[in-house]
Amino acid sequence: MARKMGVYAVLGYILYGLLIYWYLFYFADTSLPFEYEGSKADPTTFLNGRELMLTEEYSKIRNLLFFLSTPLEWLLYFLILLFGLSKAIKRWAVGSSRYKLLQTAIYLIWLSIFAYVATFPLSYISYSLAKTYNISTQSFASWMKDELIDFWINYGTWLIIVPVLYWLMKKSKKRWWLYGWLLSIPFTLFMMYLQPVVIDPLYNDFYPLQNKELETKILALANKAEIPAQHVFEVNMSDETNALNAYVTGIGSNARIVLWDTTLNKLNDNQILFIMAHEMCHYVEKHIYFGIAGYLLISLLGLYLAYRIMNWATRRWGKELKISDVRDISSLPLFFMVLSMLLFAASPFTNFTSRYQETRADKYAIEMTKNPEAAITSFQELTRSGLSQVNPPLLVKIFRYTHPSMLDRISMLEEFELKQRNK
Ligand SMILES: [Zn+2]
Repeated sequence: MARKMGVYAVLGYILYGLLIYWYLFYFADTSLPFEYEGSKADPTTFLNGRELMLTEEYSKIRNLLFFLSTPLEWLLYFLILLFGLSKAIKRWAVGSSRYKLLQTAIYLIWLSIFAYVATFPLSYISYSLAKTYNISTQSFASWMKDELIDFWINYGTWLIIVPVLYWLMKKSKKRWWLYGWLLSIPFTLFMMYLQPVVIDPLYNDFYPLQNKELETKILALANKAEIPAQHVFEVNMSDETNALNAYVTGIGSNARIVLWDTTLNKLNDNQILFIMAHEMCHYVEKHIYFGIAGYLLISLLGLYLAYRIMNWATRRWGKELKISDVRDISSLPLFFMVLSMLLFAASPFTNFTSRYQETRADKYAIEMTKNPEAAITSFQELTRSGLSQVNPPLLVKIFRYTHPSMLDRISMLEEFELKQRNK
């Protein structure tokens, strides 16, 4: 039976992959609606033929990789359970140490290594694709270093969470999801607080703005938005990528606005000020806190559903999945699988709220800087340097887009420009 289920799962995955491929490469229409033709959102007005071709090609492959990678994780955990690998690792971990915590650490390291190795080909393809299309400028060694940091941070985080989780399951069979959620609140806040000062610097160098003339202009803008000056940082990204970005991170006294140095190198001062004003909106309107609140709400629902689904799956398929008791650590792949599925299912909703915040930030920024020309050209440059699709397919928008499409963003700015001219 287990064998049959495994074959069906693999066939299902392949079929899904083909369907997604067909959708992205043949079905979805990413051409511009005719009313936008010739507008400033029309990529043919600001990209050359080669860039246009690359944009479509690169986006399509990237979208395909996105839709393939998450379900691959599910398949992987499913197969790990089905073929008794989880049980074998657990037996091995128990055999190699008397201490419960050490057993968990050993179980977790083998599961992590296995999952990492199995998903490595897709990560590597993503990296080499970005390199081929000249988005990434990172050497393989540097990329691998980031991968290893990722691995250990993940491992460390789960090493804190998993023992607590299974201890709670043993203590309270019916309420572990609730207690787990309550404990996750201070943990999440603590991690968010540490992110910009402990975790991010493991990957890149952060420092105050280098261009002092520009800094004066930015600080004047920050002053207008009532943001303390010491909260603006520059990060060295030009060794890794040609893409542009800026973001707001951290909470409390660690809250900060970070600009990639690539953004500073490629845009002129007025364009940077627009991007900066956009980030300032996130900062001033405390979008991070809304994000955390939303995330906590969803995780309460998610943990409850995980509890129900795990119990159901163990009752129904326990024999095939080789899980005799949910409270046994060998059920961990099931927990990871269910969690990943729930996160994927929630992503249309979380992306939607994110797009709402991003639209607000764009509006705030243009009201603050009142320079639509600089704003529009900065978005055009963003499109060019990241080879992003101006008008992505619907499914891509729903599952991937935390920001409105460039078509929506540039059109909004054009409307502002029009209104400004008619005043
Ligand atoms: Zn934003």
